[in-house]
Amino acid sequence: MLQTIDREPCLEAAPKNEIKAMQVEYYRVPLAEALADAKHGTHTYFELILCRIFCADGLEGVGYTYTGGTGGRAIYSLLNDELREWIVGRDATDIREIWEDMQWKLHYVGRGGLLSFAVSAVDIALWDIRCRRLAQPLWKVAGAHGNTAASYAGGIDLGFDEKKLLDNVQGYLDRGFDAVKIKVGKKDYKEDVQRVAAVRERIGADTRFMVDANYSMTREGAIRFAKAIEQYDITWFEEPTIPDDFEGYAHIANAIDIPLAMGENLHTVHEFMHAIKYSSLGFLQPDASNIGGITGWLMVSDLAYANNLPVCSHGMHELHVSLIASQPHAGYLEVHSFPIDQYTTTPLTLENGRAVAPNSVGTGVCFDKAVLGPHLVQLK
Ligand SMILES: [Mg+2]
Repeated sequence: MLQTIDREPCLEAAPKNEIKAMQVEYYRVPLAEALADAKHGTHTYFELILCRIFCADGLEGVGYTYTGGTGGRAIYSLLNDELREWIVGRDATDIREIWEDMQWKLHYVGRGGLLSFAVSAVDIALWDIRCRRLAQPLWKVAGAHGNTAASYAGGIDLGFDEKKLLDNVQGYLDRGFDAVKIKVGKKDYKEDVQRVAAVRERIGADTRFMVDANYSMTREGAIRFAKAIEQYDITWFEEPTIPDDFEGYAHIANAIDIPLAMGENLHTVHEFMHAIKYSSLGFLQPDASNIGGITGWLMVSDLAYANNLPVCSHGMHELHVSLIASQPHAGYLEVHSFPIDQYTTTPLTLENGRAVAPNSVGTGVCFDKAVLGPHLVQLK
Protein backbone atom coordinates (compact mmCIF):
# COMPACT_ATOMS: atom_id res chain seq x y z
CA MET A 1 0.00 0.00 0.00
CA LEU A 2 1.36 3.40 -0.98
CA GLN A 3 2.06 5.77 1.79
CA THR A 4 1.31 9.40 1.55
CA ILE A 5 4.52 11.43 1.45
CA ASP A 6 4.56 14.70 3.21
CA ARG A 7 6.01 17.10 0.71
CA GLU A 8 8.15 20.01 1.59
CA PRO A 9 6.79 23.26 0.22
CA CYS A 10 8.41 24.43 -3.03
CA LEU A 11 10.28 27.63 -2.38
CA GLU A 12 10.71 30.43 -4.86
CA ALA A 13 14.30 31.39 -5.61
CA ALA A 14 15.24 34.29 -3.43
CA PRO A 15 15.91 37.56 -5.26
CA LYS A 16 19.30 37.84 -3.57
CA ASN A 17 21.08 37.30 -6.91
CA GLU A 18 19.46 40.26 -8.62
CA ILE A 19 22.15 42.66 -9.79
CA LYS A 20 21.54 45.98 -8.09
CA ALA A 21 24.57 47.93 -9.27
CA MET A 22 27.70 47.72 -11.39
CA GLN A 23 30.68 49.98 -10.77
CA VAL A 24 33.57 50.40 -13.21
CA GLU A 25 37.02 51.66 -12.20
CA TYR A 26 40.01 52.59 -14.36
CA TYR A 27 43.56 52.37 -13.02
CA ARG A 28 46.83 53.33 -14.67
CA VAL A 29 49.59 51.40 -12.92
CA PRO A 30 53.24 52.31 -13.52
CA LEU A 31 55.81 49.60 -14.15
CA ALA A 32 59.03 49.56 -12.15
CA GLU A 33 61.01 49.90 -15.40
CA ALA A 34 60.31 50.26 -19.12
CA LEU A 35 59.56 46.93 -20.79
CA ALA A 36 59.75 46.41 -24.57
CA ASP A 37 58.81 43.75 -27.10
CA ALA A 38 59.05 43.58 -30.87
CA LYS A 39 55.65 44.94 -31.87
CA HIS A 40 53.95 46.79 -29.01
CA GLY A 41 56.93 49.03 -28.36
CA THR A 42 57.86 50.15 -24.87
CA HIS A 43 55.51 49.74 -21.91
CA THR A 44 55.86 52.12 -18.97
CA TYR A 45 52.52 51.31 -17.30
CA PHE A 46 49.55 49.00 -17.72
CA GLU A 47 45.85 49.76 -17.52
CA LEU A 48 43.56 47.85 -15.19
CA ILE A 49 39.79 48.08 -15.58
CA LEU A 50 37.78 46.73 -12.66
CA CYS A 51 34.11 45.79 -12.77
CA ARG A 52 32.35 45.42 -9.42
CA ILE A 53 28.92 43.81 -9.48
CA PHE A 54 26.67 44.09 -6.41
CA CYS A 55 23.80 41.70 -5.71
CA ALA A 56 20.56 42.53 -3.88
CA ASP A 57 21.81 40.96 -0.67
CA GLY A 58 25.03 42.95 -0.75
CA LEU A 59 27.31 40.21 -2.13
CA GLU A 60 29.98 41.73 -4.38
CA GLY A 61 31.84 40.09 -7.26
CA VAL A 62 34.96 41.64 -8.79
CA GLY A 63 36.05 41.16 -12.39
CA TYR A 64 38.77 42.86 -14.36
CA THR A 65 40.69 43.13 -17.58
CA TYR A 66 43.94 44.87 -18.48
CA THR A 67 45.86 46.36 -21.38
CA GLY A 68 49.50 47.09 -22.17
CA GLY A 69 48.83 50.83 -21.91
CA THR A 70 46.30 51.77 -24.59
CA GLY A 71 42.61 51.13 -25.19
CA GLY A 72 41.64 50.94 -21.54
CA ARG A 73 39.50 54.06 -21.55
CA ALA A 74 37.45 52.67 -24.46
CA ILE A 75 36.94 49.42 -22.54
CA TYR A 76 35.86 51.48 -19.53
CA SER A 77 33.33 53.27 -21.73
CA LEU A 78 31.95 50.00 -23.14
CA LEU A 79 31.41 48.77 -19.60
CA ASN A 80 30.17 51.99 -18.06
CA ASP A 81 28.20 53.55 -20.92
CA GLU A 82 26.99 50.55 -22.93
CA LEU A 83 26.69 47.54 -20.61
CA ARG A 84 26.14 48.81 -17.05
CA GLU A 85 22.50 49.91 -17.13
CA TRP A 86 21.60 46.91 -19.23
CA ILE A 87 23.11 44.43 -16.77
CA VAL A 88 21.54 45.93 -13.65
CA GLY A 89 18.37 44.05 -12.77
CA ARG A 90 19.51 40.72 -14.18
CA ASP A 91 20.15 37.52 -12.21
CA ALA A 92 23.88 37.21 -11.48
CA THR A 93 23.71 33.43 -11.72
CA ASP A 94 22.56 33.53 -15.36
CA ILE A 95 26.20 33.69 -16.44
CA ARG A 96 25.94 32.04 -19.84
CA GLU A 97 22.80 33.93 -20.82
CA ILE A 98 24.39 37.26 -19.88
CA TRP A 99 27.58 36.26 -21.76
CA GLU A 100 25.62 35.47 -24.93
CA ASP A 101 23.52 38.61 -24.68
CA MET A 102 26.59 40.84 -24.23
CA GLN A 103 28.22 39.27 -27.30
CA TRP A 104 25.18 39.80 -29.52
CA LYS A 105 24.15 43.19 -28.15
CA LEU A 106 27.44 44.69 -29.35
CA HIS A 107 28.43 42.18 -32.02
CA TYR A 108 28.03 44.62 -34.90
CA VAL A 109 30.62 47.01 -33.48
CA GLY A 110 32.53 44.46 -31.47
CA ARG A 111 32.95 40.86 -32.66
CA GLY A 112 36.09 40.38 -30.62
CA GLY A 113 38.40 43.32 -30.02
CA LEU A 114 37.52 45.75 -27.24
CA LEU A 115 34.17 44.05 -26.69
CA SER A 116 35.88 40.83 -25.63
CA PHE A 117 37.81 42.74 -22.95
CA ALA A 118 34.60 44.30 -21.60
CA VAL A 119 32.72 40.99 -21.65
CA SER A 120 35.63 39.42 -19.81
CA ALA A 121 35.49 41.89 -16.92
CA VAL A 122 31.74 41.31 -16.41
CA ASP A 123 32.06 37.55 -16.77
CA ILE A 124 34.87 37.28 -14.20
CA ALA A 125 32.80 39.31 -11.72
CA LEU A 126 29.86 36.93 -12.23
CA TRP A 127 32.12 33.90 -11.70
CA ASP A 128 33.41 35.51 -8.52
CA ILE A 129 29.81 35.76 -7.31
CA ARG A 130 29.14 32.18 -8.40
CA CYS A 131 32.13 30.84 -6.46
CA ARG A 132 31.21 32.90 -3.40
CA ARG A 133 27.64 31.58 -3.44
CA LEU A 134 29.07 28.06 -3.57
CA ALA A 135 31.63 28.95 -0.89
CA GLN A 136 34.33 27.41 -3.10
CA PRO A 137 37.61 28.56 -4.68
CA LEU A 138 37.71 29.02 -8.46
CA TRP A 139 39.94 26.00 -9.12
CA LYS A 140 37.23 23.80 -7.57
CA VAL A 141 34.35 25.32 -9.53
CA ALA A 142 36.18 25.56 -12.88
CA GLY A 143 37.15 21.90 -13.09
CA ALA A 144 38.84 20.74 -9.87
CA HIS A 145 41.43 18.55 -11.54
CA GLY A 146 44.08 19.98 -9.22
CA ASN A 147 45.24 23.11 -7.41
CA THR A 148 48.75 23.66 -8.79
CA ALA A 149 50.04 24.58 -12.22
CA ALA A 150 53.31 24.17 -14.11
CA SER A 151 54.51 27.70 -14.75
CA TYR A 152 57.13 29.78 -16.49
CA ALA A 153 58.40 33.33 -16.12
CA GLY A 154 57.58 35.42 -19.19
CA GLY A 155 60.01 38.27 -19.66
CA ILE A 156 59.29 41.47 -21.64
CA ASP A 157 62.98 41.93 -22.18
CA LEU A 158 63.74 42.75 -25.81
CA GLY A 159 65.04 46.16 -24.73
CA PHE A 160 67.54 44.68 -22.27
CA ASP A 161 71.15 44.30 -23.37
CA GLU A 162 72.55 40.79 -23.08
CA LYS A 163 73.96 41.26 -19.59
CA LYS A 164 70.69 42.59 -18.24
CA LEU A 165 68.79 39.86 -20.07
CA LEU A 166 70.90 37.20 -18.36
CA ASP A 167 70.61 38.91 -14.96
CA ASN A 168 66.85 39.03 -15.41
CA VAL A 169 66.68 35.35 -16.32
CA GLN A 170 68.88 34.52 -13.34
CA GLY A 171 66.39 36.37 -11.16
CA TYR A 172 63.65 34.02 -12.37
CA LEU A 173 65.75 30.97 -11.52
CA ASP A 174 66.51 32.44 -8.09
CA ARG A 175 62.76 32.85 -7.46
CA GLY A 176 62.25 29.14 -8.11
CA PHE A 177 61.12 29.04 -11.72
CA ASP A 178 62.16 26.03 -13.79
CA ALA A 179 60.97 27.49 -17.10
CA VAL A 180 61.60 30.87 -18.75
CA LYS A 181 60.54 32.75 -21.87
CA ILE A 182 62.32 35.63 -23.57
CA LYS A 183 61.28 38.04 -26.30
CA VAL A 184 62.83 37.88 -29.74
CA GLY A 185 62.40 40.05 -32.82
CA LYS A 186 65.55 42.12 -33.11
CA LYS A 187 66.19 43.83 -36.44
CA ASP A 188 69.02 41.36 -37.14
CA TYR A 189 67.83 37.85 -36.35
CA LYS A 190 71.41 36.80 -35.65
CA GLU A 191 71.30 38.94 -32.51
CA ASP A 192 68.23 36.98 -31.39
CA VAL A 193 70.10 33.73 -32.04
CA GLN A 194 73.02 34.97 -29.92
CA ARG A 195 70.67 35.93 -27.06
CA VAL A 196 68.95 32.53 -27.19
CA ALA A 197 72.34 30.77 -27.09
CA ALA A 198 73.47 32.89 -24.12
CA VAL A 199 70.26 32.25 -22.17
CA ARG A 200 70.43 28.50 -22.79
CA GLU A 201 74.00 28.48 -21.53
CA ARG A 202 72.96 30.40 -18.39
CA ILE A 203 69.88 28.29 -17.51
CA GLY A 204 71.47 24.91 -18.22
CA ALA A 205 70.03 21.94 -20.04
CA ASP A 206 67.18 21.12 -17.65
CA THR A 207 65.32 24.44 -17.59
CA ARG A 208 62.44 24.74 -20.01
CA PHE A 209 62.90 27.58 -22.51
CA MET A 210 60.40 29.38 -24.78
CA VAL A 211 60.73 32.33 -27.18
CA ASP A 212 58.11 34.92 -28.21
CA ALA A 213 58.33 37.11 -31.35
CA ASN A 214 55.08 39.05 -30.76
CA TYR A 215 54.08 38.45 -34.42
CA SER A 216 57.00 40.51 -35.70
CA MET A 217 58.42 38.17 -38.35
CA THR A 218 57.56 37.20 -41.89
CA ARG A 219 56.84 33.57 -42.64
CA GLU A 220 60.29 33.01 -44.12
CA GLY A 221 62.03 35.11 -41.46
CA ALA A 222 60.41 32.99 -38.76
CA ILE A 223 61.54 29.78 -40.44
CA ARG A 224 65.10 31.06 -40.82
CA PHE A 225 65.24 32.09 -37.15
CA ALA A 226 63.64 28.89 -35.85
CA LYS A 227 66.06 26.69 -37.78
CA ALA A 228 68.96 28.62 -36.24
CA ILE A 229 67.72 27.99 -32.65
CA GLU A 230 66.43 24.43 -32.95
CA GLN A 231 69.68 23.20 -31.37
CA TYR A 232 68.83 25.00 -28.09
CA ASP A 233 65.87 22.78 -27.12
CA ILE A 234 63.05 25.32 -27.38
CA THR A 235 59.67 24.23 -25.94
CA TRP A 236 57.70 26.61 -28.13
CA PHE A 237 58.00 29.50 -30.56
CA GLU A 238 55.23 31.97 -29.72
CA GLU A 239 53.51 34.26 -32.24
CA PRO A 240 56.16 34.07 -34.98
CA THR A 241 53.96 36.06 -37.39
CA ILE A 242 50.65 37.95 -37.46
CA PRO A 243 47.83 36.04 -35.77
CA ASP A 244 45.53 36.57 -38.76
CA ASP A 245 47.74 34.42 -41.01
CA PHE A 246 46.34 31.07 -39.90
CA GLU A 247 47.78 29.22 -42.90
CA GLY A 248 51.11 30.97 -42.42
CA TYR A 249 51.43 29.37 -39.02
CA ALA A 250 50.98 25.93 -40.57
CA HIS A 251 53.53 26.82 -43.24
CA ILE A 252 56.04 27.72 -40.53
CA ALA A 253 55.17 24.74 -38.31
CA ASN A 254 55.68 22.30 -41.18
CA ALA A 255 59.14 23.73 -41.92
CA ILE A 256 60.61 23.69 -38.39
CA ASP A 257 61.09 21.32 -35.44
CA ILE A 258 59.81 23.68 -32.71
CA PRO A 259 56.09 23.64 -31.76
CA LEU A 260 54.19 26.91 -32.25
CA ALA A 261 52.05 28.69 -29.66
CA MET A 262 49.52 31.52 -29.86
CA GLY A 263 46.34 32.82 -28.33
CA GLU A 264 46.75 36.21 -26.67
CA ASN A 265 45.60 37.90 -29.89
CA LEU A 266 42.71 35.52 -30.59
CA HIS A 267 39.71 37.19 -29.00
CA THR A 268 36.81 34.95 -30.01
CA VAL A 269 36.27 31.24 -29.51
CA HIS A 270 35.77 30.95 -33.27
CA GLU A 271 39.24 32.34 -33.92
CA PHE A 272 40.65 29.60 -31.71
CA MET A 273 38.64 27.05 -33.67
CA HIS A 274 40.22 28.33 -36.92
CA ALA A 275 43.68 28.36 -35.35
CA ILE A 276 43.29 24.74 -34.25
CA LYS A 277 42.01 23.74 -37.68
CA TYR A 278 44.48 25.59 -39.87
CA SER A 279 47.58 26.60 -37.91
CA SER A 280 49.23 23.36 -36.68
CA LEU A 281 49.71 24.77 -33.17
CA GLY A 282 51.36 22.85 -30.37
CA PHE A 283 50.04 25.03 -27.52
CA LEU A 284 46.94 27.23 -27.06
CA GLN A 285 47.23 30.39 -24.92
CA PRO A 286 43.78 31.88 -24.22
CA ASP A 287 43.70 34.93 -21.94
CA ALA A 288 40.60 35.22 -19.73
CA SER A 289 40.97 39.01 -19.85
CA ASN A 290 40.24 39.12 -23.60
CA ILE A 291 38.56 35.85 -24.65
CA GLY A 292 35.29 36.53 -22.81
CA GLY A 293 36.36 35.88 -19.25
CA ILE A 294 36.29 32.52 -17.51
CA THR A 295 33.37 31.37 -19.66
CA GLY A 296 35.33 32.02 -22.87
CA TRP A 297 38.58 30.59 -21.44
CA LEU A 298 36.85 27.33 -20.49
CA MET A 299 35.28 27.09 -23.96
CA VAL A 300 38.76 27.29 -25.50
CA SER A 301 40.01 24.80 -22.94
CA ASP A 302 37.32 22.35 -24.06
CA LEU A 303 38.37 22.88 -27.71
CA ALA A 304 41.96 22.14 -26.70
CA TYR A 305 40.91 18.98 -24.88
CA ALA A 306 38.91 17.69 -27.84
CA ASN A 307 41.89 18.33 -30.12
CA ASN A 308 44.47 16.77 -27.78
CA LEU A 309 46.29 20.05 -27.16
CA PRO A 310 47.53 21.47 -23.85
CA VAL A 311 45.81 24.64 -22.68
CA CYS A 312 48.13 27.41 -21.44
CA SER A 313 47.52 31.05 -20.55
CA HIS A 314 48.69 34.57 -21.21
CA GLY A 315 48.87 37.34 -18.62
CA MET A 316 46.92 37.82 -15.35
CA HIS A 317 48.57 34.82 -13.67
CA GLU A 318 46.83 35.53 -10.36
CA LEU A 319 43.56 34.41 -11.99
CA HIS A 320 44.82 31.91 -14.58
CA VAL A 321 46.61 29.85 -11.93
CA SER A 322 43.20 28.60 -10.78
CA LEU A 323 42.01 27.88 -14.32
CA ILE A 324 45.16 26.09 -15.47
CA ALA A 325 45.29 24.05 -12.25
CA SER A 326 41.66 22.99 -12.71
CA GLN A 327 42.18 21.37 -16.12
CA PRO A 328 43.38 17.82 -16.83
CA HIS A 329 45.14 18.84 -20.06
CA ALA A 330 46.92 21.83 -18.52
CA GLY A 331 50.05 23.15 -20.18
CA TYR A 332 51.94 26.05 -18.62
CA LEU A 333 50.86 29.12 -16.70
CA GLU A 334 52.57 32.28 -17.89
CA VAL A 335 53.78 34.37 -14.95
CA HIS A 336 53.61 37.67 -16.73
CA SER A 337 55.80 40.74 -16.38
CA PHE A 338 52.82 42.95 -15.56
CA PRO A 339 52.70 42.34 -11.78
CA ILE A 340 48.93 42.63 -11.29
CA ASP A 341 49.18 40.16 -8.40
CA GLN A 342 51.33 42.65 -6.49
CA TYR A 343 48.20 44.80 -6.21
CA THR A 344 46.16 41.98 -4.65
CA THR A 345 46.09 40.64 -1.11
CA THR A 346 47.51 37.26 -2.22
CA PRO A 347 50.42 37.54 -4.68
CA LEU A 348 51.23 34.35 -6.60
CA THR A 349 53.27 31.71 -4.78
CA LEU A 350 55.43 28.87 -6.14
CA GLU A 351 56.06 25.49 -4.53
CA ASN A 352 58.72 23.34 -6.18
CA GLY A 353 58.40 25.38 -9.35
CA ARG A 354 54.62 24.99 -9.52
CA ALA A 355 52.23 27.88 -9.00
CA VAL A 356 49.63 27.37 -6.28
CA ALA A 357 45.97 28.28 -6.80
CA PRO A 358 44.42 30.21 -3.90
CA ASN A 359 42.02 28.32 -1.68
CA SER A 360 40.03 31.41 -0.77
CA VAL A 361 36.38 31.60 -1.75
CA GLY A 362 35.79 33.32 -5.10
CA THR A 363 38.25 33.87 -7.93
CA GLY A 364 41.04 34.31 -5.38
CA VAL A 365 41.83 37.77 -6.75
CA CYS A 366 41.12 40.42 -4.12
CA PHE A 367 42.56 43.81 -4.94
CA ASP A 368 44.34 45.66 -2.18
CA LYS A 369 42.85 49.14 -2.02
CA ALA A 370 45.83 50.50 -0.11
CA VAL A 371 48.29 49.75 -2.93
CA LEU A 372 46.00 49.94 -5.96
CA GLY A 373 43.91 52.91 -4.87
CA PRO A 374 46.55 55.58 -5.59
CA HIS A 375 46.51 54.59 -9.29
CA LEU A 376 42.78 55.20 -9.78
CA VAL A 377 42.03 57.69 -12.56
CA GLN A 378 38.60 59.32 -12.57
CA LEU A 379 37.04 59.22 -16.04
CA LYS A 380 33.84 60.92 -17.06
MG1 LIG B 1 53.22 36.58 -26.05
